[in-house]
Amino acid sequence: MEEVRRYKCNFCQKLAVKKETIERHEKICIHNPEGTNCYMCECSYLDDYDDGNDYSRVIKDQCMCAFNEDVVSAIFRDGNIASNCPMFHRSDRIYWYRTYDQANKYVGQYIFDEFVAIVEGYQTGKNLK
Ligand SMILES: [Zn+2]
Repeated sequence: MEEVRRYKCNFCQKLAVKKETIERHEKICIHNPEGTNCYMCECSYLDDYDDGNDYSRVIKDQCMCAFNEDVVSAIFRDGNIASNCPMFHRSDRIYWYRTYDQANKYVGQYIFDEFVAIVEGYQTGKNLK
């Protein structure tokens, strides 16, 4: 018998043999209050996914992104694109608590905020190069 070493996420029960696997996971772990992932983003919501192809089936209960208007699992693999997404805003609730209308309201708000910041930047000369 051989004793083996395992690494465990500080936020959930996930285990891995490689330390790097858990280091990578902890950054996107949905239980990490600082974790960046699409599943905890205010712009995500629960819905059935229909890719519009007549030959493929509708996939039930998916994490959808209201900003990209697509299913998170297909575009973003682990949902870890969140760290590069301008729309990422972590919520304290996971995606299945939101409907499309709620998520889309956040998208609209954040796009508006971005627009206001750009306009203010011009007004104060900050954006002038
Ligand atoms: Zn975890």
